Amino acid sequence: MPTEVLERAQSELLDWQGSGASVMEVSHRSKAFVETKRRAEESLRRLLGISDSYRVLFLQGGASQQFSSIPINLAGPGDVVDQLVTGQWSKKARAEASRYVDVNLVASSESSNFTTIPDAAMWSWSSGAAYCHYCPNETIGGLEFDFVPVTEAPLVADMSSTILSRPIDVDAFGVIYAGAQKNIGPAGLCIAIVHNDLLGRARTDAPSTLNWTLAAENESMYNTPPTYAIYLAGLVFEWLEHRGGLVAMEAVNRQKAEMLYSLIDQSDFYSNPTEPRYRSLMNVPFTLARPELDALFLEHAEQESLLNLKGHRSVGGMRASIYNAVEKSSVEALCDFMHRFEQQQA
Ligand SMILES: *Cc1c(COP(=O)(O)O)cnc(C)c1O
Repeated sequence: MPTEVLERAQSELLDWQGSGASVMEVSHRSKAFVETKRRAEESLRRLLGISDSYRVLFLQGGASQQFSSIPINLAGPGDVVDQLVTGQWSKKARAEASRYVDVNLVASSESSNFTTIPDAAMWSWSSGAAYCHYCPNETIGGLEFDFVPVTEAPLVADMSSTILSRPIDVDAFGVIYAGAQKNIGPAGLCIAIVHNDLLGRARTDAPSTLNWTLAAENESMYNTPPTYAIYLAGLVFEWLEHRGGLVAMEAVNRQKAEMLYSLIDQSDFYSNPTEPRYRSLMNVPFTLARPELDALFLEHAEQESLLNLKGHRSVGGMRASIYNAVEKSSVEALCDFMHRFEQQQA
């Protein structure tokens, strides 16, 4: 979370908009909260250039809930869907969808340990798929598509760890969804941007709380929405607009990522296995030449307030997640530390 946003939330915690109460304490149906939610949505629409052809939904259950909500909302039993598997998240999404629909595996890069994206010329599409699901930025592997797949079926993208890091062409997608905790706000909230044409397709036994159409009809208030998370997300969107929007964020994010990748590439001590073309802008995994030093690296990093560098338990090593709220100065501090740590071990 950007420090400025947390400070603002702190200053308003006990007395929000002169109400004498916290956002958490006012009704989600109150004029003040409805207006706050509307402004958050408007701000997100400006940032991403979302047209009236899309609905913006504020959902719950994180991004993982959508792994089952997507088939439930877009396909009937027995329908075929296409899925690309390029990392741990798209793999999980495929496994979950398989419980509801027939999943055709378009391509998988698991044999390369998810360090590349299979050549699109070799992908195998099904005919008449209800949708195609993929994950543009694999958070754990640090693998990012540098293109948007061209599909006949509506394209569904898990953008949890890339949304708002740079401009995107929303019109290329049927559904974009993102768990909030990387670039939007607190965990638990999930934002879905759904093309109007894809509403009304939910299977009849879909649980009401998972039904996108019901969510759209009820302005994401079929039941009580996570009000405090929506309020904080709105503050983050406002912060991004003040910073110059996504073009400005992309420029900074590129500088941050390049600093880290060039340090890693120039060193014999650190390495990153991802094919350079597909290296993530937000998640930079790296390993040490001597893994027995991992614990020491993390301990010394923590002493310098460089936190959360431990790689995901499924892959080990290190991972620097350099989301929007991570300032360039923090990445500079990390690079400086990594450089010194390497020299100490020489
Ligand atoms: C973090 C993440 C998820 C899981 O989000 P939850 O909110 O924990 O369900 C799913 N997909 C991607 C790409 C992620 O980065």
